[in-house]
This record gives sequence, structure tokens and C-alpha cells, in this order.
Amino acid sequence: MPLSHRTDVLIIGAGLAGLSAANDLIQAGYNVLVVDKGRGLGGRLAGRRIGEATFDHGAQFMTAREARFKGVVAEWIQAGVAEEWYRSYPGQPNSHPRYRGVPTMTAIAKHLAIDMTVMRGTKADSISQQGNRWMAMLDNGETVVAKKMLITSPVPQTMDLLATGNIVLPADKLARLSRIQYEPCIAVMAVLDGPTAIEAPGAISLEKGPISWLSDNLQKGVSKIPAVTIHGSAEFSAHQFERDRMEAGQRLIDAATPFLGTAKVTEYQVHGWRYSKPTVVDEAPCMLVSEATDLPPLALAGDAFAGPRFEGAVQSGWAAAKRLMSTH
Ligand SMILES: Cc1cc2nc3c(=O)[nH]c(=O)nc-3n(C[C@H](O)[C@H](O)[C@H](O)COP(=O)(O)OP(=O)(O)OC[C@H]3O[C@@H](n4cnc5c(N)ncnc54)[C@H](O)[C@@H]3O)c2cc1C
Repeated sequence: MPLSHRTDVLIIGAGLAGLSAANDLIQAGYNVLVVDKGRGLGGRLAGRRIGEATFDHGAQFMTAREARFKGVVAEWIQAGVAEEWYRSYPGQPNSHPRYRGVPTMTAIAKHLAIDMTVMRGTKADSISQQGNRWMAMLDNGETVVAKKMLITSPVPQTMDLLATGNIVLPADKLARLSRIQYEPCIAVMAVLDGPTAIEAPGAISLEKGPISWLSDNLQKGVSKIPAVTIHGSAEFSAHQFERDRMEAGQRLIDAATPFLGTAKVTEYQVHGWRYSKPTVVDEAPCMLVSEATDLPPLALAGDAFAGPRFEGAVQSGWAAAKRLMSTH
């Protein structure tokens, strides 16, 4: 007999938005269950190992603007899961701090999830309204019945999930969600036989050509051996997304040659982020979809709401938790 879980709040997605919301809800005394289809925690904070090499292949760093978030970053530094990476690099004198996860970006997600119930490798296949409750069918055959629900997947995936339960959204909210757009990113993780030619601090952002970003995971302190992450530009990634991934990866490696110096690539893997960063975001920090409807409390959060970056996703999670707490 498959398990049926009962919880106050079901959160779909253990990325920054989901985990940040979960923390606030748990603090406020709610019983929370988080499910994520990914094997690891963190969503687009992603790390990978290839032999002795380690890579951050999703988000590379975070910036901190708002007071509460700055305070949380200070706590993470204190806890040893974050540190300042750099303030500027050659050609980019901009001096505000960029912080990294220690040892990798996913360390922050793991830290956020301490004392939390997260079902990993578990996809919410469908959701439906059952009277004044939400019911989610998970891909392991289990079900979750929840009083309130928060969905933090990229908005096109959220729309698909809402469609599984024929959940009708108010027209104004639907229009806002339909406007949100994302750009893709093809990410290459390449193991090298020697150090790159990238200058300290080991990061380069490019405005033109197929590459948008390069980071030297050895200099960054992520990898024990030379290893470079290469992000394709939005244009290159969109053009190559449905084509042969290894071939696209090789083209990015070829374009990266000037930054690799004499180092040769010994092995590489490629990951495609279909929804890498939002290019059109909603004006509100989250969306209480159930507002002025007969639906049980349902909120949407993620970087498409409070801004297309690490801090935005956290802020959105916090905002959604607050909105859900205000519902009955
Ligand atoms: C290549 C790349 C580089 C980036 N670089 C930076 C950077 O340097 N600095 C910066 O600030 N930001 C950067 N970002 C953006 C940053 O990573 C995101 O803004 C942030 O991580 C988004 O968090 P989120 O919680 O909104 O979404 P996500 O991290 O996408 O979390 C959503 C989660 O929902 C899960 N999920 C989806 N559907 C289901 C389902 N049906 N059932 C169960 N689980 C589900 C997913 O597995 C995922 O874990 C980058 C992103 C990418 C991809």
C-alpha cells in the first residue's frame, strides 16, 4: 500500500526559494514537507564531480543587496558554508562582493535543509484540489495531502503541473505568468591536464561570442585539480539546445582555447539548463494564486518573481512563506 503523507505545507522544489520558504514556515511552527525531483539539493545551485575534478555548473556566485539577506550570508560565512570569492577581476572593476558556497555552491542548500524533511529524487507528477486540501501524486506512487502548497519550479513547469489538476487560474494571474520568460544555458564541465590561463580570481564574463562565462574551479577553491566551467551565451545555447550536446560542448571548449593556455581538456561533460535565468520577471516577489478563488492556499515562488538571481530566489521564498502564513 503506497504511503500517504499529511502535512501543513507541501513545497515542490528544494531550490533556494523552496528551502528558504520552508525554513521560515518551520520557524513559525508549520509542519512542512519538501519534495524535489533532483537527486541533490539546491536546484540550479548545482555541483558535479568527474573523477578528482569538482565543478559548480549552475549558479557561480551570489551578491547581497538587502539587509536580511546580507545577515543570512554573514551567518553562512560564520557556519563555514560561504565566503567572499572576489570583488573585481581584470576588465571588471565593479567592487561589490561576490560570495561563493564552500566547498561548492550546493553547500548552502545543504545547510538550509538541515532539520528539514526533504524527499529527494521524487517528482510531483500531478496535483489536484480535494475539498479544502491539496493532493499531490508523486512519481514513487506515494501521495501527499496538504493544507497549503508552494510551487517553486520554473514557471513553464509550474503551469504544466497546474494543468494536471485542471487548476484554473484567475485571468490576470495567468497573463502575468505567461509573460515570464527564461533563457537557456549550455554548461560545459571540462577536466584539464594543467592550470588555465585565467587570471585571479578565476572568473571571466564575456559580452560577445558563444561563451558568457568561464570559471576556473581550481582557483575558485572548488576543485582539487584543474577544471573549468564554461557557460554558453543565451544565443548560442538557444541555437544549440536541441542539437548534439557533446558537439555543442566541444564548440564551447574550442572557443575557450585562449583562456586555457597550454592546458588540454582530458574529459568533459555537458549539461543543458533549459530555464537557466529568467529574462522577463514578474513585478511581485511571489504570487498567491489562490487569492480571491475557492482554491486552498497556493503560492508560487522562485527567481522569476523577486529577481533573476540567487538572492531573488531566496527573497521570493521568504515572501511566499509570509503570504502562506497569512492564509487560513
Ligand atoms: C548556469 C546558471 C548560472 C547561474 N549563475 C548565477 C550566478 O552566478 N549568480 C546568481 O545569483 N544566480 C545565478 N543563476 C541563477 C540562480 O541559480 C537561480 O536564480 C536560483 O538558483 C533559482 O532558485 P529557485 O529556487 O527559484 O529555482 P530552482 O533552483 O530551479 O529550484 C526549483 C526546484 O524545483 C524542482 N522541481 C521542479 N519541478 C518539480 C516537480 N514536478 N516535482 C519535484 N521537484 C520539482 C527542481 O528539481 C528544482 O530543484 C544561475 C543559473 C544557472 C542555471
